[in-house]
Amino acid sequence: MPQTIFKLDSSRKFEDQEKLGHNRWHPEIPPVATVKPGDCFRVDCREWFDGAIHNDDSADDVRDAPLMTVHKLSGPFAIEGAKPGDLLIVDILDVGPIPQEDSGPLAGQGWGYTGIFSKANGGSFLTDQFPDAYKAVWDFKGQVATSRHVPEVSFLGLTHSGLMGTAPSADLLAKWNAREGALIATDPHRVPPLALPPEPREAVLGGVPEKDFERVAGEAARTAPPRENGGNQDIKNLSKGSRIFYPVYVDGANFSVGDLHFSQGDGEITFCGAIEMSGFIDFHVDLIKGGMAAYGVGENAIFMPGRVEPRYSEWLAFSGTSVTLKGEQRYLDSFLAYQRACLHAIDYLTKFGYAPEQAFLLLGAAPIEGRHSGVVDIPNACSTVYLPTAMFDFDVRPSAKGPQHKINPGIGAPRAASR
Ligand code: ZN
Repeated sequence: MPQTIFKLDSSRKFEDQEKLGHNRWHPEIPPVATVKPGDCFRVDCREWFDGAIHNDDSADDVRDAPLMTVHKLSGPFAIEGAKPGDLLIVDILDVGPIPQEDSGPLAGQGWGYTGIFSKANGGSFLTDQFPDAYKAVWDFKGQVATSRHVPEVSFLGLTHSGLMGTAPSADLLAKWNAREGALIATDPHRVPPLALPPEPREAVLGGVPEKDFERVAGEAARTAPPRENGGNQDIKNLSKGSRIFYPVYVDGANFSVGDLHFSQGDGEITFCGAIEMSGFIDFHVDLIKGGMAAYGVGENAIFMPGRVEPRYSEWLAFSGTSVTLKGEQRYLDSFLAYQRACLHAIDYLTKFGYAPEQAFLLLGAAPIEGRHSGVVDIPNACSTVYLPTAMFDFDVRPSAKGPQHKINPGIGAPRAASR
């Protein structure tokens, strides 16, 4: 086992640990540790809400989820000799929940959660159809996830980190703030918002000295979106065995990681859409000097996905096109087409007795595949979502006999958060 260079004590809050991580991006957040090219090391990660979401049957905690506090990130870690213009090679050697037998109060201790965010607090990919908060708790047995809130399914987790990245330079940070600020200005009071501006409240900035804290907190970027540095890409295939090549924008690269997911479907569609957990991740790092120019990697990370994944061989797929639910034609809108494909899958699963919220939570959490199947056939984009048939305890395929199995409605059905 590689040496742990960022240790988290599960009984203490993120802010009360021996080494303090961060929840914003800024070039002045100093590294908490330095490693050398070629080193292997372990990092503990806290789930993105640092224990605010509980293993119970109420969704009130998801309704009230403290979005200003996310994401709790481990790092930054400096890589000796890294210079702007290099590519940082990050190999994921291993990743998993908190290595502990007993279940505990912290997600990652034998369990994790998926949430549908309410429209008033962030929303989701299908927020117009699902405006209220819901939660499903998943239990882990080895690699398998099951839920008392979504009965008669089990699947193998494709465990990964949702958020990894290098620190932005001051110039890159200014560019982010300018372009995201311009977008917000087009509709500043929209619910949910178009983007999240810097937010000094609840900012955790590692070892930024007190004299600089207020200024840095006012400039530092939120961690929700993916950007040129990687960030919250939520790519489910960045699992064990992956190799990612991140652009380096500051001396030392200042790499950070967090937001571990036991499993996630493509799109992370419920917003809190993966199975969120705390855990560990083992890395090997190296550098390609001058790699950004040599390989033309200036705009974002490139990667080789992991070669260890659940072996599903049969899929039931749903397609959608860029026509709104009201029948209005849109031009090659893949976002809308993927919404329609997901709604199509949700409708189908309700024929087997699932509540729509259960089907939605399942699509967020299970290793479903989402694809841009067609983007040129005017006026309709075609998006598809693939569900592994083997994750259902019953035969989910259509046949002339009609749905032969009904799960008992209401058993374990997740409850909407109270308003
Ligand atoms: Zn997450």
